[in-house]
Amino acid sequence: MANTLERRLSKVQVSQKAQQFTESVIREMTRQAIRYNAVNLAQGFPDFAAPAVIKRAAQDAIEADLNQYAITWGATDLRHAIARKFSEWQKLEIDPDREVTVCCGSTEAMMASLLAVANPGEEIIVFEPYYENYGPDAIICGAVPRYVTLHPPNATKVDWHFDAAQLRAAFNDRTRAIIVNSPHNPTGKVFELAELELIRDLCVEHDAVAITDEIYEHILYDGAQHISLATLDGMRERTITINSLSKTYSVTGWRVGWAIAPPELSSAIRKVHDFITVGAATPLQAAGVTALFLPADYYDELTRGYAQRRDLLLPALQAAGFKAFSPRGAYYIIADISGFHAENDRVFAQRLVEEIGVAVVPGSSFYRHPEQGAHQVRFAFCKTLATLERAVGNLQKLSAVF
Ligand code: PLP
Repeated sequence: MANTLERRLSKVQVSQKAQQFTESVIREMTRQAIRYNAVNLAQGFPDFAAPAVIKRAAQDAIEADLNQYAITWGATDLRHAIARKFSEWQKLEIDPDREVTVCCGSTEAMMASLLAVANPGEEIIVFEPYYENYGPDAIICGAVPRYVTLHPPNATKVDWHFDAAQLRAAFNDRTRAIIVNSPHNPTGKVFELAELELIRDLCVEHDAVAITDEIYEHILYDGAQHISLATLDGMRERTITINSLSKTYSVTGWRVGWAIAPPELSSAIRKVHDFITVGAATPLQAAGVTALFLPADYYDELTRGYAQRRDLLLPALQAAGFKAFSPRGAYYIIADISGFHAENDRVFAQRLVEEIGVAVVPGSSFYRHPEQGAHQVRFAFCKTLATLERAVGNLQKLSAVF
């Protein structure tokens, strides 16, 4: 009786959109890690301290009573710091007063951008595997995601890659936007100039907008170069560049991100953003100014630290029986679990967290069809070397369990 009532109520009260997606698997795995006291290599947040100078700046801002709403599209100083950093790093001048919208993390920036550009029924192109938020993002704005496959490295390509013909075929009259996440989560792919040029040509040809997610822009390995799509000829006027403090400054809980876009797009993003969240936390926006002014060697050290972590985890995974590719950017390793006796990625991940004491993300959460990721799991290595060593120690038990 109670069950029937619950079923009836949930049908009445839950929107069709909300029924189309599930809770985030990534965030669920963090809850599992806590439950089983496992090492959390699931969710992409650092377990080490943020730079002392930016923590002090946040404390100072609260002490100075920067405790009320900032301007809805972002505190003036922060927007100016974002514009300055973008011009120094990517050599593109932008107007901080008309082309920057500060949001609650890049998560909100992506949602606000999609709501600002896409109409119900229009298509959004997404490279697959993809960061799991993009699927629900598209559903929430009523758009239809259209997927283009990223293939793993092979004898001729050192990085994940897509088929130009498949990308070309994905563009059509209904295409409104393409999401380009580089460096890419979960594969670690860093999009190269020729790939970005093809994306540019297709966007121009089909009058589509590119929405880039560049939050791992400073986490690069083996000489990989980050190129902002907006810097390519013809793209400045049709690109929304999304970024945040989360990953570069190890403050994922601060929820400060932004979208850079030409004025007409920015004013649409600003309206949507205003009515979703009003604004990001004022004192943390103030601390963001300090973060964006950190000296160049901060970024060198960030990259060096992540390379060291990757170089600890990757060979350990390979030695433990995973087939894994070396990421060229971001801080994840997609690992193939075919060498183990497990029904699928979800069963494997569940047993890994419960019996081995390591939490990972099942590969299926990065694909629209679960079977495509059924032989993969994702490890996040944004952790201290001690945490990674503990995980590697726990993984020694793998052969006894699988
Ligand atoms: N985009 C990608 C590709 C991510 O991997 C993540 C977090 O893991 C986010 C966005 C979320 O970023 P933010 O904390 O800025 O909302």
